[in-house]
Amino acid sequence: MSDQTYSFFQSVEKSFDKAAKFTKWDQGLLEQIKACNSVYRMRFPVKMDDGRIEVIEAYRVQHSQHKSPCKGGIRFSDEVNQDEVMALAALMTYKCAIVNVPFGGGKGGIKINPHKYSAYELEKITRRYTAELVKKNFIGPGIDVPAPDYGTGEREMAWIVDTYASLKPGEIDAAGCVTGKPISQGGVRGRKGATGLGVFFGVREVCNMPDIMKKLGLTIGIEGKTVVVQGLGNVGFHSAKYFREAGAKVVAIAEYNGAIYNANGLNEEECFEYKKKNGSLLGFPGATDIPNSNDALELECDILIPAALENVINKNNADRVKAKMIGEAANGPLTPEADDVFNAKGILVIPDMYLNAGGVTVSYFEWLKNLSHVRYGRMEKRFDENQNEKIIRQIESLTGKAISDAERHQIVHGADEVDLVQSGLEETMITATQEIMEIWKANPEIPDMRTAAYVNAINKVATSYSELGIFP
Ligand code: GLU
Repeated sequence: MSDQTYSFFQSVEKSFDKAAKFTKWDQGLLEQIKACNSVYRMRFPVKMDDGRIEVIEAYRVQHSQHKSPCKGGIRFSDEVNQDEVMALAALMTYKCAIVNVPFGGGKGGIKINPHKYSAYELEKITRRYTAELVKKNFIGPGIDVPAPDYGTGEREMAWIVDTYASLKPGEIDAAGCVTGKPISQGGVRGRKGATGLGVFFGVREVCNMPDIMKKLGLTIGIEGKTVVVQGLGNVGFHSAKYFREAGAKVVAIAEYNGAIYNANGLNEEECFEYKKKNGSLLGFPGATDIPNSNDALELECDILIPAALENVINKNNADRVKAKMIGEAANGPLTPEADDVFNAKGILVIPDMYLNAGGVTVSYFEWLKNLSHVRYGRMEKRFDENQNEKIIRQIESLTGKAISDAERHQIVHGADEVDLVQSGLEETMITATQEIMEIWKANPEIPDMRTAAYVNAINKVATSYSELGIFP
């Protein structure tokens, strides 16, 4: 499927080098930023339900410690290998820098197909993996903080925090050793849908830029835009949801075993339920089947959202993609060759390490919550509501007019945890978009948004290193 010319890590290095030319940093410093600092490859035995012992291959990579802790998800996939985990860890370093999240980049992976294991086997694998990380000091709230990624979710994060806490008795900040946890285990409200919501906020911000929309021949705003989403996992599902709720039409949804199309728009919730029951999206009532799922990437649409795995758009199919904008919700869905094709054709690619940063941004909020040991909104919610109520009463008595109960509720309402998390995410994505666009506009030589995003990341990481005084 991939271009074969470059490994995933080499693709990331290639994009980095392309951007480094537009910075003023010393070559040695650039080499340090690019390098993966630590790679931990492990193998451990796990006894399966049938009594068989299986040797599990797993990784944790810390790409950069220019800020602590390192941060990045853990994926469970048959495709996991060292190169992939290194590439994903590097993307995390740049991603965190772009959205001003003060972490270094990390990533983990266990080379298993989670669908082939029972919940009990998965629990044993996850707990043993965590114990291996503890042994080598590769996990901890101030060292390295994993999170969900492809094939993992809240359940696995709960196993990780429980294993960590039991091996580190008395560690008061133990809950901050992993993010993406269930609320009951110290998670934050709004983490689950965060990557999808961040994708939506990022694309919306770009769609609100008149000059960019004019160049693409599109109208301003999200409303009425046609969207194709590849992947109905957590990220794809929530991206589709927020686009639909904002008035876009999600005309196609693709899963690995079949895609569906409906020009009038699809509802992701109904599609998800259908898939859960039938094993595939094919046959969804009122939609046209696309049995070869990759064909969905080539449909006519305004916005294409690849939200599954890396390298799905490459030199073999890039030429046939008809979308006007591509929002990389997955990590590394386009190869460098595909980038070149889209550049030449004037198709805008909104790059992964900025667009899908909503997950790590809200992970940052979760980690802060864990370290502060208090839920967002707990201290101020009632105070704000009482103040707002007093203001409304004053206005009513001065004007002699009363507002409706619904209006009162809307104005008086003090922020809940989820409101604060989503507002923090919105602010983060808007600021990041504007910063990247400013860099791009200030230097017309920069060929694409990905390069502008890398320039921004390199400048931030390099500044942080140089301010440490290591590199004069
Ligand atoms: N796995 C997600 C990513 O690739 C989230 C990482 C995190 O929250 O640390 O960005």
